[in-house]
Amino acid sequence: SEGRRPLVAGNWKMNGLLSSVPTVEAIRDGLSPALADKIDVLICPPATLISSCVAAVYGSVVAIGGQNLHARPSGAFTGSISAEMFADLGATYVIVGHSERRAYHYETDDGVHAKALGARRAGLRGIICVGETMEERQQGRALDIVRAQLAIGLPKGATGADTVIAYEPVWAIGSGRTPTATEIAEVHASLREMLDKLVGEEAHKIRILYGGSVKPSNARELMAVENVDGALVGGASLVAEDFLGICRAYE
Ligand code: PEP
Repeated sequence: SEGRRPLVAGNWKMNGLLSSVPTVEAIRDGLSPALADKIDVLICPPATLISSCVAAVYGSVVAIGGQNLHARPSGAFTGSISAEMFADLGATYVIVGHSERRAYHYETDDGVHAKALGARRAGLRGIICVGETMEERQQGRALDIVRAQLAIGLPKGATGADTVIAYEPVWAIGSGRTPTATEIAEVHASLREMLDKLVGEEAHKIRILYGGSVKPSNARELMAVENVDGALVGGASLVAEDFLGICRAYE
């Protein structure tokens, strides 16, 4: 899609112990050289596994990222982890504003903006998540909601090198339900247009992922939708063969 390199990203959420590191090794080993030439692959394990996973993927195409961060570089914020700390471990991406953070940790669009700036400050690529609830979709407000989330969350001067967007309808996450290809195309086109308003020409370099119940059996169809530049995968990223099956949509 317009020369943007696809990104298939896995979000392990609060799953995984040291015994899960072999899953990352299996993903690393299961990517054919031809596929590794074509796509970027990312796993975002819990923060406790970042070091082990970074070591496991060393020298391979697989990148490792965080799932959330504190906006500030350091300070009296008990229990929080900064972008600098993730970068220090060898992480190269961080997810920002996932709907679970918005729902359970009261993250706001302004908070998302601050965190995205924090990611950029430390040289991490921020994956900014946006998405409407089912109620908002039924009210015909999906486009307004995601456009506002993007407009507030996106740092000024965002580029394709430092920023990825993920469209994740809240009702599609972990539910086994997905929007139709037409619905996804409509949202992604609208987000691309909003990006154009916000960052001009650079809009065409920023990847927009789709996330929400992506699995091997639907990945090919979802990844073929116009303006879809990859996937953000929750549940199916926990099993190497499922995650690889999604990556192979790009074979
Ligand atoms: C997610 O939480 O980012 C996600 C897309 O989850 P799932 O793939 O399990 O729907």
